[in-house]
Amino acid sequence: MGSKTLHDFLVKNLEELKAQGVYRKLPVVTGPTGPKCIINGKEVINLSSNNYLGFANDPRLIEAAIKATEKYGAGAGAVRTIVGTLDIHEELEEKLAKFKKTEGVIVFQSGFNCNMGTVSALMTKEDAILSDELNHASIIDGCRLSGAKILRYKHNDMDDLRKTLKEAYESGQYKKFMIVTDGVFSMDGDIARLPEIVEIAEEFDAFVYVDDAHASGVLGKNGSGSVSHFGLYGRVDVQVGTLSKAIGVVGGYVAGSKELIDWLKHRGRPFLFSTAMTPGAAAAALKAIEILSESSELVDRLWDNAKYFKEKLSALGFDLGKSETPITPVIIGDEAKAMQFSDELFKEGLFAQGIAYPTVPRGKARVRNIVTAAHTKDMLDEAVAIYEKVGKRMGII
Ligand SMILES: *Cc1c(COP(=O)(O)O)cnc(C)c1O
Repeated sequence: MGSKTLHDFLVKNLEELKAQGVYRKLPVVTGPTGPKCIINGKEVINLSSNNYLGFANDPRLIEAAIKATEKYGAGAGAVRTIVGTLDIHEELEEKLAKFKKTEGVIVFQSGFNCNMGTVSALMTKEDAILSDELNHASIIDGCRLSGAKILRYKHNDMDDLRKTLKEAYESGQYKKFMIVTDGVFSMDGDIARLPEIVEIAEEFDAFVYVDDAHASGVLGKNGSGSVSHFGLYGRVDVQVGTLSKAIGVVGGYVAGSKELIDWLKHRGRPFLFSTAMTPGAAAAALKAIEILSESSELVDRLWDNAKYFKEKLSALGFDLGKSETPITPVIIGDEAKAMQFSDELFKEGLFAQGIAYPTVPRGKARVRNIVTAAHTKDMLDEAVAIYEKVGKRMGII
């Protein structure tokens, strides 16, 4: 039977979600999540995955994962600090450090774990964190866990950041200051104003922490991230990246100084208390980093496809908001209409997720697209044709 108190709590809250229209069933994919895939039994063009470079389905990564699984087994068997550190984990960290041009890298099991473990290992209740109001949930959770004072600044608003940091600095109440931001914001596809953030940090003795989850494999030389994109080598102390999005596998990493990595190996709690990445995942991610280090071909194709798709949607009269990256929101405004638009696109053979409050502000509901290097121009043309048909039918364009 179980607890009646718990049961009542769950039922009441689930009912509330249903009443708000935000209760949902998960779309189920049969087979690979490629540029086309089968969702809920229907073949559609997929514009909703973070598989920017097509690495999730790349035969070279699949082969690397199989070989490593055969050699090392299905799991790592322990946390990194006991007997879970395999030579391929260390090789992955060395290759990533070269790729990022930092002294060191530490790999976690996910990007989420990176933020939870790193923010909480660096900041204490004597410190203050300046956090962009649109930062990812895992940054927010890491900040809370640290016990530091959290000072939110308006999204990408450098005047507000400067003013908030200056006040906190002059109050004399805090020991350390950290500015934390997503490198690329996942809902609008805009880029953090890192050069200004770095200058403001330097003015007030703060350090900078950038979460490049959506910038890894996308921005900068060969997709090496936002520090490369802006040429800010040596001026951003903590760089987080994921292996789960453009890299196509699963995992996350922190890149920075030798001392930062050393400290996280002793105080990064998910590193210490959660089992290491599987051998297959480590080997596949390693293969992806090798491919990226050698060639910018996939990154170039990604940007070429994104430009192509965005120009065509804009020309049709869709509002793409502030996007500067392959993340392409189509802003609809009304929540119910955005959800209906997404449903209608699906019926016509296109999967683009509808996103509404509270993920984005009220009145800014949208359908979000992520173009990838794996889409062909034919697929993108087909997607644009579906947008045109449904957009006209619903009176959006
Ligand atoms: C997706 C995302 C994460 C989480 O990364 P995972 O590797 O999927 O756990 C962290 N930060 C940002 C900004 C993200 O977009």
